[in-house]
Amino acid sequence: MILDDVRADVSSQLDAQSELGVQITSHNDIPEKGPVNRGLWFQIPQATAVFADLKSSTKLNATDGPRDAAFAYTYFIRAMTVILDRFSAKYIDIQGDGIFGLFSGRGSMFHAAACAVTMRTLVEREVAPRYVKSTKSGWNLTAGIGVDKGVLLVRQLGLGEVAQNEVWAGKPVNTAAKLSSLATSNEVVVSERVLAEYKKFSKPRQRALLWSCGCRGRANQGGLSIPAGQTPNLWKKIPVPKDTGLDFNHAYRMQSAWCQKHGAELCEALLTGKGQAN
Ligand SMILES: [Zn+2]
Repeated sequence: MILDDVRADVSSQLDAQSELGVQITSHNDIPEKGPVNRGLWFQIPQATAVFADLKSSTKLNATDGPRDAAFAYTYFIRAMTVILDRFSAKYIDIQGDGIFGLFSGRGSMFHAAACAVTMRTLVEREVAPRYVKSTKSGWNLTAGIGVDKGVLLVRQLGLGEVAQNEVWAGKPVNTAAKLSSLATSNEVVVSERVLAEYKKFSKPRQRALLWSCGCRGRANQGGLSIPAGQTPNLWKKIPVPKDTGLDFNHAYRMQSAWCQKHGAELCEALLTGKGQAN
């Protein structure tokens, strides 16, 4: 009987794993690959996950057919991969039809934040227009971006030597994925603990990330020259629905893209901490 065979296989696999036991070693940095050694896991105490998800992708497949869907995913995933890589994500992976990057080490919160805003900006300014050009589709290509931080455990697991892949256990990846689905079109949603970290950033960094540019499209006004706190705050508190299973009650959403005029200097200030704001 097949069921008995399957059960016996599962049971002997679990016997083997139970005999190996588990060893956990702590690492400051996200490794390129998780350990394959038997029973060994790496623990990364401070990791930030950025998850990007194509909004309304179920409608895409139903209404536009496979060619348009293929273009949408190709452009979206390729663009997000480039952005994650340029902002120094240590590990990039695709989960379902979304994509995530992991950041760790010095400055990783700044890189992850700049990465999230850039994803949101370039989906609107590069990916969506290109998709329309290639497909003439009326479907609106937008993304939701989620960010969370915390402890991660990693090792490679899978079928024998062939299909090993990293398993990332811990809250950040799952939470970032859930936040990306809470996000509406072209919105970045971060957990309460991530926003609390943003509020501890240096003044130029806060200026760049938390407050609106204030230029109203005029290059000679606004940007870093206006101190933090004198323009509207970009982050709105939203309640987290109870059924999401998240371990916090509120998240924070941001709908703005990088300013066309000042985005480059604000992004630079967020990454380097250097700027005129005080
Ligand atoms: Zn501006």
